[in-house]
Amino acid sequence: MEKCKHTVIFLMILFVIFPNYAQALKVVLDAGHGGKDPGALGVNGLKEKDVNLDISFKVKNILEERGHEVVLTRENDTYISLQDRVKLTNQQNADLFVSIHANAHHDPSIKGSLVIYYNNQYPDKDYPASTAMSVLTPYSKTLAQSVLNGLITEAETKDLGLMSKAVYVARMGSIPSILVETAFLSNEEDAARLFDESERQKMAIGIANGIETFEPITFWDALDHWAITSIIRLQDNDLIFGYNNSYEPNRSLTRAEFLAMMDRIFYFTSDKAPEDEQTTQDPHDNLSDEQQTPTTEENTESTQENNLEEETESSEESDVSDQEKNNHEQNNTNTDSNETNDEESTSDNTSESDSNQQTKVETKDFKDLSTDHWAFKIIHEAVNNGYILGYPDETIRPNEPISRAEVSVIFNRIWNENETEATEATFLYEDVSEGKWYAESVYLLKELSLLNGITETKFGPERNMTRAELAVMVDRFLY
Ligand SMILES: [Zn+2]
Repeated sequence: MEKCKHTVIFLMILFVIFPNYAQALKVVLDAGHGGKDPGALGVNGLKEKDVNLDISFKVKNILEERGHEVVLTRENDTYISLQDRVKLTNQQNADLFVSIHANAHHDPSIKGSLVIYYNNQYPDKDYPASTAMSVLTPYSKTLAQSVLNGLITEAETKDLGLMSKAVYVARMGSIPSILVETAFLSNEEDAARLFDESERQKMAIGIANGIETFEPITFWDALDHWAITSIIRLQDNDLIFGYNNSYEPNRSLTRAEFLAMMDRIFYFTSDKAPEDEQTTQDPHDNLSDEQQTPTTEENTESTQENNLEEETESSEESDVSDQEKNNHEQNNTNTDSNETNDEESTSDNTSESDSNQQTKVETKDFKDLSTDHWAFKIIHEAVNNGYILGYPDETIRPNEPISRAEVSVIFNRIWNENETEATEATFLYEDVSEGKWYAESVYLLKELSLLNGITETKFGPERNMTRAELAVMVDRFLY
């Protein structure tokens, strides 16, 4: 058990040290058409099947030179059904699938590159996707965009964007899958490109570059989770890491995990901090532009979030909250609150005195925080900065769940957003009344669309925060 824990810690350290360590990918390349099926015919006489095969081989060579493993669905001019292509792909245990085609249109003026992927938001009744593919959309879309970007950059073809379409090879597999339309054989200029060996090589380099940026799926347990888009985005930005190919989105977030995430976005353990205690605000300043614009589409997630919330257990955390609260009150008796900004409440003494405590709270030894805890330094700094307070029994409980109320209060405290206050008269949660120690933070986060209630009328302050909820909250804050 202990050994296992150390392995996890070691891997986490590796991730921190080598966050962009390029992983070798296993790629299936599918040259479209073949044999009796020539595909589109070019205005210059080119056959699509030949162009597709040539570019596929070029991409294969480039990727293999860079250390990736590549499987081709066909290596010569043979006919293979779409079903067989997918079947073969599913047997490979590969990371991704790319089908390579050239386009044609009855309007000869149309030219450019586009990439097709299956989008589960627009299911086609007549062409249902495989179960796996219907949850892989975020990955396929990410891959599609990377490959399109690579192609446009290298080959300088016209950017026609992404297209969501239920084509067979993009909707029936079990791994992230896309179909690349390199250029139009029906357009003179594009057909000339496809005829030119060096232009095809550029296309291949662009496609390979795009493929190479793809981060293989690690969080298999989160694939069909409502928070997957946020989870992927944070993972791509090296903000979250899982364990053994899983993210455990529905698991309760621990206090240590929460502080570790806060440190990743506010950098309070960075080397700069000790020189100037005041600079704890700087990370916030760096981030403030981004956090001003929570995206509206994510509001749609809130109802799903509500549903999910029902699953979380909330048996013990009321004690935690109460004790945290008691502890605040205890500490407040010996600090003055001159920098408080919550005029509306005299009874709510909890959120204001923290920066004063920076000098008053000494880093004490918590009974349950050993120096070899993976988050020791982070927790140590969080206490020093007054972001969190220990419990009266001299514990800090790093591995225990953190409640939604605590997350709200501590997030606000670290963010140190003195200028923003929740608008008055927004006390819309039945379970968050005005006098509560967390009320101001809860309503502020609600107003900023960072953390919604579990229903329209309930916030669930004493429920455990889940790892998925944190991912969405941080995603909304940063992106
Ligand atoms: Zn084709």
